[in-house]
Amino acid sequence: MLKVYDLQGQFKDVVQKFSSRKTEMTKQVNDTVMNMIEDVEKNGDQALMKYCRDLDGFMIDNPKDLIVSKQEILDGVTSVGKDFMRILERTKEQLIAFHQHQVDKSWSLYKENGVMMGQLVRGLEKVALYVPGGTATYPSTVMMNAIPAKLAGVQNLIIITPVKADGKVNPSILAAAYVCGIDEIYKVGGAHGVAGVAIGTATLPKVDKIVGPGNIYVATAKKCCYGRVDIDMIAGPSEILIVADDKANPKYIAADLMSQAEHDRLASALLVTTSPSLVEKVNEELKRQIQLLPRTEIIEESLQNYGGAFIVNSIEEAFQVSNEFAPEHLEVLVENPMNTLPLIHNAGSIFLGEYTPEPLGDYMSGTNHVLPTGGTAKFYSALGVYDFVKYSSYSYYPKAALEALKDDVITFAKKEGLDGHANSVAVRFEEDTYEKKSN
Ligand code: NAD
Repeated sequence: MLKVYDLQGQFKDVVQKFSSRKTEMTKQVNDTVMNMIEDVEKNGDQALMKYCRDLDGFMIDNPKDLIVSKQEILDGVTSVGKDFMRILERTKEQLIAFHQHQVDKSWSLYKENGVMMGQLVRGLEKVALYVPGGTATYPSTVMMNAIPAKLAGVQNLIIITPVKADGKVNPSILAAAYVCGIDEIYKVGGAHGVAGVAIGTATLPKVDKIVGPGNIYVATAKKCCYGRVDIDMIAGPSEILIVADDKANPKYIAADLMSQAEHDRLASALLVTTSPSLVEKVNEELKRQIQLLPRTEIIEESLQNYGGAFIVNSIEEAFQVSNEFAPEHLEVLVENPMNTLPLIHNAGSIFLGEYTPEPLGDYMSGTNHVLPTGGTAKFYSALGVYDFVKYSSYSYYPKAALEALKDDVITFAKKEGLDGHANSVAVRFEEDTYEKKSN
């Protein structure tokens, strides 16, 4: 099932081939989305309601019906039942335990000459979390976005999500929102929902940032609105890369490869190992276990097109290959996996040892599952508290401290042809008739 590549130290070309599977944002989608954004800008709530009717069959004619009531949220909580609420609460605790370490503090620096400077850390004021509609619902994604946002101190976190003809938001989404303390939810999604919160309408608030996954229309709208608002990264198809030695368990490897391959036909599942016999055993396990899973066709297609096993000469080389891929998820199934951390430079999230399967990270390990894909782990990080804050520097200079720097600053400014800048410093040291303050 997995094609085998004996890399013989030559992995750059192979990596290139596997990395070129981006989902294209076509001109047609781009044009559609741009028109929708313009429409929302011109016609506000009326445009939102028109698209809700035309695209989703939600026959709304009063914008107030875009708002999810408190009672609907409570009904969602009741509907999912106590057991699932307990799981959501436990997931929240796990996420807080990890993400609280990412909370950055403001700091100050005092110098001997009376200078004081520092950095303020402030949570974004308003953030919209996009929760996809469609058949699959992901309450885990609500939590992965909401918990770091709340820890960052985001004052106003809202959810936008499309609904169908019945006008109902999936109860598990409402329950996850409840657990995360979100009570402002709007029944609108797609490109028009994104435009609505990027621009603001009579009903939808204008936000500072939009996060969360969505289909091609949603992703394109986020891209087009970037600049008016901040956005998170654009997620591509899922990926897993497993580095394994000859002692790794083929049963676990096969199961974990398929856990990502089942996401979609473009998902990528790769094994990098020093052991050709392990690959044979993994292939046997894939054949056996795939019979037990429902999404057989998707798994087969993604393994065939974007799956593979790479034979390398050493574990060190395995990590060179992995660093070149910069996978979204990296599983390390070797003896003493902790010792391999220094070898890892590019990976969205790292799963060490045979009892840390990747799906644990999708839900409850505590780490975030919103991760860079398509090799972007070379420069992007997992979603975290730092995505929901901004930093402002501040400085205070007493007169003597400015005087000590004044000549250099004036020369610097003149060198750049900015005499007004030079003057701003110089005037402070001219004799004048105003009463001098001693500071
Ligand atoms: P969605 O909410 O992203 O998109 C649905 C909306 O798309 C509709 O409400 C409609 O307004 C709009 N739309 C549909 N056809 C259109 C058209 N022809 N013109 C203009 N607008 C149109 O829900 P979805 O479609 O189910 O997609 C969900 C996506 O999110 C999937 O790609 C899934 O893989 C992804 N996802 C990813 C994660 C993750 O964590 N990476 C989690 C959940 C979902």
